[in-house]
Amino acid sequence: MKHSIPVDQCGPRGAEMAAAVQACVHCGFCLPTCPTYQVMGEEMDSPRGRITLMKQVLEGRQPLETALPHIDACLGCLSCETACPSGVQYRDLISPFRAWAEPQRERSRMDRLRRWMLMNVLPYCWRMAMAVRLGLMARPFRKAMPKALAPMFDLLPQRMPRREPLRELYEAHGEKRARVALLTGCAQQVLAPEINAATIRVLQSQGVEVVVPRRQQCCGALAWHVGEEQRAVKAAKANVAAFPTDVDAILTNAAGCGSTLHEYPLIMGEGAKAFAGKVQDVAQYLDALGFRVPDKERKVTVVMQDACHLLHGQRVQSAPRRLLAKFPGVIIREVADPELCCGSAGSYNLEHPDVAAALGRRKAEALLAAQADVCVTGNIGCLMQLRAHLGVRLRVTHTMVLVDEYLRNLG
Ligand code: SF4
Ligand code: SF4
Repeated sequence: MKHSIPVDQCGPRGAEMAAAVQACVHCGFCLPTCPTYQVMGEEMDSPRGRITLMKQVLEGRQPLETALPHIDACLGCLSCETACPSGVQYRDLISPFRAWAEPQRERSRMDRLRRWMLMNVLPYCWRMAMAVRLGLMARPFRKAMPKALAPMFDLLPQRMPRREPLRELYEAHGEKRARVALLTGCAQQVLAPEINAATIRVLQSQGVEVVVPRRQQCCGALAWHVGEEQRAVKAAKANVAAFPTDVDAILTNAAGCGSTLHEYPLIMGEGAKAFAGKVQDVAQYLDALGFRVPDKERKVTVVMQDACHLLHGQRVQSAPRRLLAKFPGVIIREVADPELCCGSAGSYNLEHPDVAAALGRRKAEALLAAQADVCVTGNIGCLMQLRAHLGVRLRVTHTMVLVDEYLRNLG
């Protein structure tokens, strides 16, 4: 698309935003794969519509306030990037645009309070743990709470999971094949600590030494995706400094975090390139390493739920399937419309509960139709969203938890 964006006046990522706009040829191939377009049915809530809106705002031809509802409604799932034949880097536009727009917009008091709570609670393990405990105590009285807080109660686990503190170093079992560092995530370590424990055990079993850097922080995804630029830059800098350089890879087991670590050069600049170059999802890493599987058989039918930030954000699709297919007795089933988001998308299900719930219900029905014993996913946000919508109808767990159970002959 031709544009007249004054790149120099659009903040530090003006050139990236303009390049994304320029690459779009307005063909509309991305529309059918956009979950918000499917639910809302409006051009302005499609990738093409949003690109046009952001272009016009950056050119000064459209007031920011009229575009914001449509920009805010974007999940950031990046399904449009996968579908786009012209290679539009939508991620180079949406998050930088939100960061550019944030200081110029007005928010209601309730909106500010909710954002403040999200930014000051979710990324900090002990605050998050305390909030979950308080939430579980308050859940019986949820009807008396402000309506805006209701979605937070829906996403709480049934009970507070028991959490073992993680050590800084886990030795490889048997001959050492590699040394990696693991990002353990913030909310994940509170809501589902078994994921990190399982990931570490699986890596050890494959001869991989695991470093868990003590000074690591939240990856900054939450802040970056909602335009809180300074918080995101701070998180990126802290993590680049906290992770050791003498490792073969920096691993994540949460797709949203992994995708954001890959975006560190966009967030904090060239200084993060070497760091981002080492980042891999754990399933992708184990698949490439050559996974050693026991010869015992365990019959289980698995339906795969690709997290958007794995499928679209990191283009990882076949690695988790190849990994699971190595286990004797594992049957893999696919879900209908696998490219569609489940509605989780970081804090989206808290900020846009209606759209998120519609997508969550749709995904839950599609997963049930696969008639599997268990659904696996590679992202804590999807896991919580799917558990909320599936309840007891289908078990939902992380890929690494299933692999760990298999290796330990559990379940
Ligand atoms: S990121 Fe997802 S929700 Fe946003 S425009 Fe692209 S496909 Fe639609
Ligand atoms: S598919 Fe790509 S080029 Fe076509 S409208 Fe969507 S973003 Fe633009």
